[in-house]
Amino acid sequence: MVSLKNVNKHFGALHVLQNINLDVSKGEVVVIIGPSGSGKSTLCRAINRLETIDDGEILIDGKRLPSEGKELAALRADVGMVFQSFNLFAHKTILENVTLGPIKVKNMRPADAKELATNLLTRVGVATQAEKLPAQLSGGQQQRVAIARALAMKPKVILFDEPTSALDPEMINEVLDVMVELAAEGMTMVVVTHEMGFARKAANRVVFMADGEIVEQDTPEQFFTNPRSLRAQEFLSKIL
Ligand code: ADP
Ligand code: MG
Repeated sequence: MVSLKNVNKHFGALHVLQNINLDVSKGEVVVIIGPSGSGKSTLCRAINRLETIDDGEILIDGKRLPSEGKELAALRADVGMVFQSFNLFAHKTILENVTLGPIKVKNMRPADAKELATNLLTRVGVATQAEKLPAQLSGGQQQRVAIARALAMKPKVILFDEPTSALDPEMINEVLDVMVELAAEGMTMVVVTHEMGFARKAANRVVFMADGEIVEQDTPEQFFTNPRSLRAQEFLSKIL
């Protein structure tokens, strides 16, 4: 579903993505873990074409990333993204946040978009908040709306970039529970997170990144109990 081949990217002198090769199959849940500054967000943004790459290639469902125009909009619809900071439209209601994409990008009729959005908001447990503005919701609720908004585009894969890092501790699980459910339903997911519980419950594979490189990848059991590289061992000793 997602395939990166020899992807490189620099920010000036910084080689932020170093020869990245990564394949994510349909229905697979891949957790990306690694120290701050290792290139995890840049990798997610490159998959969604929010960042350009210097060389290599990125395929989504077998198709090369288009660089602009209608095709790029279609690709963005295929690749959902959930950010650390929610990124909801502040001046639109919760319902509008979810209906906007289907109406604007997919030309869905407003009544159909509303029905879809209501179903999704029910699924993530915030249907009663539909007429409120984002700022009136808790962080955990806003992040669940962001997930509903991503789902409304019927994406082939959803990228999550530290979706619970900005949340108060008591709200982390309500978001992770929704993500675990999505994983169980077969959604293809790439998740940057340090939430070990989520990785153990939902991930098929853990990818460890450091200094722009994929250093190792393994099952969650193997990775957390028996990391092979010194860098992974050091990293885990700090966060566990
Ligand atoms: P992570 O998500 O793993 O913490 P990032 O992908 O955000 O890492 O960043 C990787 C490195 O690239 C960091 O050193 C960061 O400072 C740098 N970086 C990220 N975005 C930019 C940018 N737009 N311009 C220059 N440097 C950047
Ligand atoms: Mg990041």
